[in-house]
Amino acid sequence: MKLLEGKTALIFGIANKRSIAWGIAQAFHKHGATLGFSYAGQVLERRVRPLGESLGVKFIEACDVANDQDIAAIVNKASKVFGKIDILIHSIGFANRDELTGPYTNTSREGFHLAMDISVYSFTALAKAFQPLLQPGGALLTMTYYGSEKVAPNYNVMGVAKAALEASMRYLAYDFGPKNIRVNAISAGPIRTLAAAGVSGFKSMYRSFTDLAPLNQSITIEDVGNTAVYLCSDLASKTTGQVVFVDSGYNIIGVPVPREPATQD
Ligand code: NAP
Repeated sequence: MKLLEGKTALIFGIANKRSIAWGIAQAFHKHGATLGFSYAGQVLERRVRPLGESLGVKFIEACDVANDQDIAAIVNKASKVFGKIDILIHSIGFANRDELTGPYTNTSREGFHLAMDISVYSFTALAKAFQPLLQPGGALLTMTYYGSEKVAPNYNVMGVAKAALEASMRYLAYDFGPKNIRVNAISAGPIRTLAAAGVSGFKSMYRSFTDLAPLNQSITIEDVGNTAVYLCSDLASKTTGQVVFVDSGYNIIGVPVPREPATQD
């Protein structure tokens, strides 16, 4: 059964084939959605265009979400090409590398503003700009991480940004509710992507994750893509303002201890 047949989705944040946004794009394609892609800048076009073309995507446009003119331009193009859209995926985050290592206390004012602008405000900016194009029954979705709730060493200003992103998501859900447009977030467990590589100590955190999570399984971009299909489909028509975890249950653990190996009877 195809869950997104007849729906048009714009996906922001594909950098390469490891990107969470690419996992979402593939799952959406499988479920019959018409897709449009947006990538950060010309450097990425070389990687993103072939990915888009492999799914038959024709709308592939650059947009720096820190730039209001870029956002206005892509809204204009999307309006001409699609008329209306049903789904907007925000899979974007950025902080300076030197803010993602060592003590959080060392965060600079500029680094704080940058992380907040690109990782948090951009979701609100896109929601506002695309408002006239969004159809009733539509859905907005952003990507967050558990470092918003609990301390993940080195995640630092991104943890603070994700907390603000989750709060933004709830306020947007309230604003868009009367239009019958839902706004949610997926909180994914660690996945080896370009953005994750920027967080100091990610590799050791990634290695211990499967030992500690209840399901003892790592998270893939396909896992996130499948949950995104559900959240953006009519199956989730009464779910809004939620953070949905795709993390093998890691977030329920209060005291992380690797499981004892099963004894053989
Ligand atoms: P990714 O492939 O590096 O994707 C991040 C995307 O954000 C890239 O396409 C990046 O483009 C884009 N971006 C950064 N600044 C931008 C700007 N000014 N304008 C437009 N796009 C911009 O990494 P990812 O892990 O899939 O990240 C996607 C989202 O998932 C992020 O919000 C991340 O925090 C979240 N997340 C990731 C994990 C994980 O473990 N990987 C876990 C939970 C949540 P550039 O490459 O050009 O900067």
